[in-house]
Amino acid sequence: MTDALTSEAAPASALPQSRHLATAIPGPRSQTLHQERQAQVTDGFGIVLPVFVEQADRGILQDVDGNRLIDFASGIAVTSIGASHPRVRERVAAQLERFTHTCFMVTEYESFTKVAQWLNEHTPGDFEKRTALFSTGAEAVENAVKIARSATGRSKVLVFDEAYHGRSLLTMAMTAKDNPYRLNFGPFPAEVVRAASANPLRPGAINHDAGAPASAEDVTAAALASTEATLAEHGTENFAAMVIEPIQGEGGFVVPAPGFIAGLREIADRHGIILVIDEIQAGMGRTGTLFASEHEGIAGDITLTAKALAGGLPLSAVTGRAELMNAVHAGGLGGTYAGNPLACEAALAVFEAFEDGSLLANARAIEAAAREVLEPLVAETDSVAEFRGRGSMLALEFADRGTLAPRADLAKEVSARCHAQGVLTLTCGTYGNVIRLLPPLVIGPDLLADGLQVLRLTILDVTAEDNAVADAPALA
Ligand SMILES: *Cc1c(COP(=O)(O)O)cnc(C)c1O
Repeated sequence: MTDALTSEAAPASALPQSRHLATAIPGPRSQTLHQERQAQVTDGFGIVLPVFVEQADRGILQDVDGNRLIDFASGIAVTSIGASHPRVRERVAAQLERFTHTCFMVTEYESFTKVAQWLNEHTPGDFEKRTALFSTGAEAVENAVKIARSATGRSKVLVFDEAYHGRSLLTMAMTAKDNPYRLNFGPFPAEVVRAASANPLRPGAINHDAGAPASAEDVTAAALASTEATLAEHGTENFAAMVIEPIQGEGGFVVPAPGFIAGLREIADRHGIILVIDEIQAGMGRTGTLFASEHEGIAGDITLTAKALAGGLPLSAVTGRAELMNAVHAGGLGGTYAGNPLACEAALAVFEAFEDGSLLANARAIEAAAREVLEPLVAETDSVAEFRGRGSMLALEFADRGTLAPRADLAKEVSARCHAQGVLTLTCGTYGNVIRLLPPLVIGPDLLADGLQVLRLTILDVTAEDNAVADAPALA
């Protein structure tokens, strides 16, 4: 049976699920509010699209000027079941009537246990688990490192090229890209070591001739050999953990070459290193399975979740082998807001929404629809180098044919023109030359088709104009 994209997973609400332009984007009201923001808010926050949102539901963001934008961002992979799912609203509203906070380290509430139980049962790994809840993804990553150090008595952490793990001091050190994430913010915590990733399009561990792409097997073998060499160089016995995203997020939606993560699993086992799978962006159904590591057929000793875990409320989790999670001394983990009761209720609503499997089927249907519309662009243009990803986590990389010179200018121009037409896209990647698509899993088929057509036609326009410029005779 093929997966058909259905809207049944989310009951209809008042917000029409169609694109609508009432003004130019951004509209006058958004422009005024943005000016006011600039007078009050630090410039340190970037902005993808300076549009102020009034209401959001499933695939639509409605702004203060009455425009309805198609949401291909989901607030960066957060609102997978939409930004106003009825179950989330009901559960959070009911909790709001009872209490907003106690601090789980002071007095307890049952929803925290229930979220932990669901994660213990559903994350990959057929072993006894325990879970710790926090608020942000970076906190989950930091706590995984704390737990791994405490359990092993070792200090070093292995991370990979193109990795993104957050913006706190330790997770900045673990993140690969300097600008904007690390620039001017050092010095960073020591003991973080980086190895080559297994990027099939740009295999850092291989010296291959440009234009003669390496086979996936070669990419995997070279990256694993590089991992072993990096560990040996820094003292394999010093490593507490290796941390990897099953599909790299901010680094460019890089799907690792087949066998790479399974190879890391084997290396970790052989050396007594804890394998931490950072599912913060790729997990919670985004890729068509509950967890992206299921595609790799492996389980981390520790699995991290956040982003889509609680339907837009801040919640993150560290779930791992019971003996690791319990190796930490009592009182060593926690946080004032860790596992806030409103966020826990929202997570329970998300779990309920995933129960009948239709959201996972939707993720796979989104991939099929997008592949049909966008993958031909690789052959049709000279500068779409790759269409990649899984489920509703998809990307197009812009680079010149043959040389693979990154074309961030094209990604930026395509994205800007999509925004002007009411389609919210994001870019990412080491070179900023990747457009990533993260539609909510509850987007309707017609809305998805409309957004994909806008993107496809815009790419054809922009790449044709680029060719015309390149072919124009030089001025004498
Ligand atoms: C977003 C992200 C983080 C950090 O999460 P925050 O909630 O922003 O701190 C960590 N790892 C990955 C893979 C992410 O995508």
